[in-house]
Amino acid sequence: MVLAHEKRHMPLAQDIDGRQIPGKGGVQSMKGAASLRILRARLGLDRQIAAGRTWLRPLRDGLWLIERLRQITFLAPAGPLGARAAGAYPCPVPFREMVINCDGTVACGSTGYAPVLDSFDTSSSVRLSDIWEGPSFKAMRARMLSNDASGCAGCMLFRCPNFSPLSDAEQRPSIADHPPLEHVLIEPTACCDLDCPSICGRSYPKALRVLSRRRTRFMSMDLFARIVAGIDRPIRTIGLYNYGEPLLHPNFSTICKSMRERCPSAYMYTSTNGTRMADLGVRKGLLESGLDDIVLSVDGATQETYGAYRRGGRLESILDGMRQFRQERERAGLQRPRLLWRYLLFSWNDSEEELACAERIARDVGVDHFGYGLSDLPDLASRTYLPGTPAYERIRSRLFRQNPT
Ligand code: SF4
Ligand code: SF4
Repeated sequence: MVLAHEKRHMPLAQDIDGRQIPGKGGVQSMKGAASLRILRARLGLDRQIAAGRTWLRPLRDGLWLIERLRQITFLAPAGPLGARAAGAYPCPVPFREMVINCDGTVACGSTGYAPVLDSFDTSSSVRLSDIWEGPSFKAMRARMLSNDASGCAGCMLFRCPNFSPLSDAEQRPSIADHPPLEHVLIEPTACCDLDCPSICGRSYPKALRVLSRRRTRFMSMDLFARIVAGIDRPIRTIGLYNYGEPLLHPNFSTICKSMRERCPSAYMYTSTNGTRMADLGVRKGLLESGLDDIVLSVDGATQETYGAYRRGGRLESILDGMRQFRQERERAGLQRPRLLWRYLLFSWNDSEEELACAERIARDVGVDHFGYGLSDLPDLASRTYLPGTPAYERIRSRLFRQNPT
């Protein structure tokens, strides 16, 4: 389950403070990409293909491809990063985070376009430090420190304003070669049961989908055991998710438990679309998992608004699963895992009535934290809650917080 949607689907047309992001094609490029999406939606191609008109598939895939090429053109590294980027740069990701995909490849960042730098999936045992302090990560950090984005391919994370910029200390060569590893993201699976309009959705052209780049659909327990055995340094936070819906992994709670045993003091969390919470066995596994938090991405107070993005999800069943989990946790006398509901604001789910209704439901379900997230999809995001507007100021204190105290 994708938590940071804002990092994954499209580059930001404006950053979180409402500044326009300059680029080769600039905002025009983004408008072009947005209008292609709108055109595709207007033509109802996904719907028509699902209804059997498969001869429309080349047209739909062609539109996706043009849109993607426009994004890549917009993002293509062109000279020093400083001249173009409006996010945090040099990109802090390879100084702080390691992403291990379900096939054991280790990517520079969590987007589907971040380059693979190394792999756990080898016959010999690999230590986390070998990768983190190895030549590929070192080279990527060195590139960042010389403002060279040539190794970033189509990854746009250096534009993501959600990261705090690198401090002076982090940029010192002695530290940059051996930085502490703050965050490890482990992807149990890249499969999902929903069909969001994103690069992991089923309607996205197969050849461009994230899953088609993974050599396996689910992380094997053997690979996972090797990753756990390879942990040879402290990790502050561990996220058990990336692309895909992690609760679909048949051994998800075992994965969490082993990780908790290996890293007893790390903050450990997952992010889910919540569909599997309806299953008693899954809820029981989560109670025993040792997770601190479960982030649920649920973006609507009615089936109609919720299903506009989370295509294929049933709101009532997800809410019921959350409610039951909360009661079961109470009965077990546990405080964790906490339920954190993140509500992404889109143009169709941001009326005051709907937000009030969602907050009422959150209280009724008994979630531990409810907060709003901003979507970075320029053609879908809420136009009301733009950073810098009075409306945004009204909800600022209710924005989603990871690891709330
Ligand atoms: S922008 Fe470049 S450095 Fe940053 S995560 Fe992506 S590939 Fe890595
Ligand atoms: S398709 Fe699945 S993994 Fe992708 S954004 Fe939707 S819920 Fe998340």
